[in-house]
Amino acid sequence: MRAVLDHVGIAVKDLAAALAFYRDALGLEIEPPEEVASQRVRAHFIPAGEANLELLEATAADSPIARYVDKRGPGLHHITLRVDDIHAAMSHLKDRGVRMIDDVPRPGAEGSTIAFVHPSAAHGVLIELKQSPNKSAISNLQFALSRFTVGNLELISVLDGFIRLDGGAMFGVVPKPLWSRVAPPDERNRITLAMRPLIVRGARTMLIDAGLGDKENEKFHDIYGVDRTRNLDQTLAEAGLTPEDIDIVLASHLHFDHAGGFTTRGATGRVKPKFPRAQYIVRRGEWEDATHPNERNRASYLADNYVPLADAGVLQLVDEDRTIMPGVRVRRTGGHTMHHQMVVIESGGKVAAFVADMMPTTAHVADAWIMGYDLYPLDTLAAKQQFAADAIAKEILVFFEHDPVRAAGYLGIENGRRVVRDRP
Ligand SMILES: [Zn+2]
Ligand SMILES: [Zn+2]
Repeated sequence: MRAVLDHVGIAVKDLAAALAFYRDALGLEIEPPEEVASQRVRAHFIPAGEANLELLEATAADSPIARYVDKRGPGLHHITLRVDDIHAAMSHLKDRGVRMIDDVPRPGAEGSTIAFVHPSAAHGVLIELKQSPNKSAISNLQFALSRFTVGNLELISVLDGFIRLDGGAMFGVVPKPLWSRVAPPDERNRITLAMRPLIVRGARTMLIDAGLGDKENEKFHDIYGVDRTRNLDQTLAEAGLTPEDIDIVLASHLHFDHAGGFTTRGATGRVKPKFPRAQYIVRRGEWEDATHPNERNRASYLADNYVPLADAGVLQLVDEDRTIMPGVRVRRTGGHTMHHQMVVIESGGKVAAFVADMMPTTAHVADAWIMGYDLYPLDTLAAKQQFAADAIAKEILVFFEHDPVRAAGYLGIENGRRVVRDRP
């Protein structure tokens, strides 16, 4: 492995005083800060030759940086070494008995993937390994925009940030020693999930799901560990699109992490459709359930995300599996909710599928890995088995809406187990 110094992280207590030294006295230039909501920290990067300095400022009293400063005072916090392939680097180190804090890589700032080496292995220094956003077409796309072609349709995976949900609830009957290896929980037992809506460009421009959106308050953001530092507005813009360009918004179902972005709060405080020209398409059964929630599903259905669509006259309900625009069909899966649907995209002999919460992450491709949130888990099982056989036979490109690292991949069988890989 080849490791290159990327940056040196410095925990600061008094940012103004730190800027007086690093910027004014040393004459270094400071980049606009980047806020990492999940870590409750603001990072100020300072280019210094080949590498950077990074001033780390806590944004809350319970931030890991605040705790560090309380305990040891401001100063050197970590150094970051950049590697080409973080998976290879980690197994190289593990083979040599190096103790890691992270057993699997996780998303870092600006599209990177990171993992920490334990300070006891690095002679008292906290070392972060970092792999920059990958050029590889499919893997490690947690922030990067990724474009795919299916016949004469263009598919663009976008991002509305990350949320954290209870790890146990995300994996149902799977015991924690198993799921925690693939999805390491935080101190509140939550795991990180991405929200990746999909754009389909063909005869018209369609957006499938829209993430959490921007209407929720600070308490909600704390409970669900929301990090929308990178969000749908930005990633749409990077795809060369504005909300006005979207003709059709299609819902897999109406849970808040899928439909939150359907609406936004206007200047007067009134909630209105986010995509001013779009028709919004929702399955009728899902609409009925969402507008008549019960005690089991009430927390997932927030009326402001979809009732304003009906009020604005932009809602279209569909009753059955059918073509929404040329090449794009909805297919009911049930399971997660009674009327949860997936989207099948087919053109020029190629097939892709946006499977939403039937297989929210790559870990969920295994039969028994079914969310505890699912209302009808045995229906999820049947839908998954049927889909997986189809996906392998037809080499379907599968989009994983909540996977923190991978936007899409192909299902395969290796050593008798269902896996996700870059090629069919
Ligand atoms: Zn859901
Ligand atoms: Zn979901």
